[in-house]
Amino acid sequence: MDNIIIIRYAEIHLKGLNRPFFEKALVRNVTSALCGIEGAVVRRGESRVYVENVKEEQLDRALEALGRVFGIHSYSPGVRLEQDFDAASQVLADMVAEERERFDKETVPFRVEARRADKRFPMKSSQMAAQAGGVILDRVPGLKVNLDHPELTAYLEMRDKAYCYTRVLKGPGGMPVGCNGRAALLLSGGIDSPVAGCMIAKRGVALAAVHFESFPYTSDKALEKVQDLAKLMARYTGPIRLHVVRFTDIQMTLYEKCPQEYLTILMRRFMMRIAERIAKNDRCLALVTGESVGQVASQTLESLAVTNDAVDMPVLRPLIGMDKLEITELAERYGTFDTSILPYEDCCTVFVPKHPVTKPRLCDIERAEAALDAQTLIDAAIDRDVVATIG
Ligand code: ATP
Ligand code: MG
Repeated sequence: MDNIIIIRYAEIHLKGLNRPFFEKALVRNVTSALCGIEGAVVRRGESRVYVENVKEEQLDRALEALGRVFGIHSYSPGVRLEQDFDAASQVLADMVAEERERFDKETVPFRVEARRADKRFPMKSSQMAAQAGGVILDRVPGLKVNLDHPELTAYLEMRDKAYCYTRVLKGPGGMPVGCNGRAALLLSGGIDSPVAGCMIAKRGVALAAVHFESFPYTSDKALEKVQDLAKLMARYTGPIRLHVVRFTDIQMTLYEKCPQEYLTILMRRFMMRIAERIAKNDRCLALVTGESVGQVASQTLESLAVTNDAVDMPVLRPLIGMDKLEITELAERYGTFDTSILPYEDCCTVFVPKHPVTKPRLCDIERAEAALDAQTLIDAAIDRDVVATIG
């Protein structure tokens, strides 16, 4: 008899011949999420993944870590034993007795859900459910069968072995990180961009990140905050290669040579160009930003169009149709909110025009840029790119 964790995945089922590729990615990511759990072994089963050998005192930590692995639909701590119905019913009764103690009420609505995945097993699932239910009701007081609205469900599955469990925990969904290529996130210290990164990672995309700082106008604390955000994100996204680009010279030049009202949109175009160059060198196929329509002057449709025009790579904007409240909820779920709201300056807040243009015209912006040697400025910034892998 072993304690195990059963991991179920959803979308991977859809992937036909590519399935082993997705399953291997999931096993790899589960293994690294559990690297701090001594002795844990992760194996592929039929259409699921099993974690074996987790010690009782480490179980809660392991379950918490699995809650952050994209590609997991749901998971259950349970017990695996031989295909012996009587023994399995006893084990299940023990588990129900323990689970029953979490409820502070006289009778708990209860049911057994049985499955016969191994069709050679002689009992039908309805028979197993009824008989196991009888054993459990004899053993555990304060239960009342309720097939439609149970609050406590005991699960019994007959597969290659018997599997018993009482808890089904919701996973974060999505697809395993690393099975859908790589993208470069423009990571500021704000609320939005970390959420945007997590959402794209949820679709199986691994991340690099590019952060622009305006040292000495932005402080070491501001940079530390971004590193902390990358660390928090990495719990979901896996390791992130963080590129830190010093943006000060470009900002100063724009400040001196271009009309004030264009400063923000010009900065955005330079950021995109630099991020695209870094992304290409770092094997990324797309850029990711935390923009959403209309949130600030640089996120009107006109501004987004002029920003897009600066690069050829696809720009993914997963927050594009969301409002701040929805984004904030996700920031809380991903655990980045409290760090994002720390009050350190961002490079975009250092050189802000009083009246930024909200409906820029590409021809005006290009004319302003013609006064600059954009390529030299960009080359110089990229030369000083500082890279570190976080998480
Ligand atoms: P956020 O909360 O992510 O900072 P925001 O609402 O403040 O977003 P902007 O400051 O206009 O919006 O930035 C829009 C997007 O541009 C950000 O989501 C991010 O992807 C990118 N960005 C902004 N500032 C930086 C920066 N200093 N370094 C890297 N990317 C940045
Ligand atoms: Mg910002």
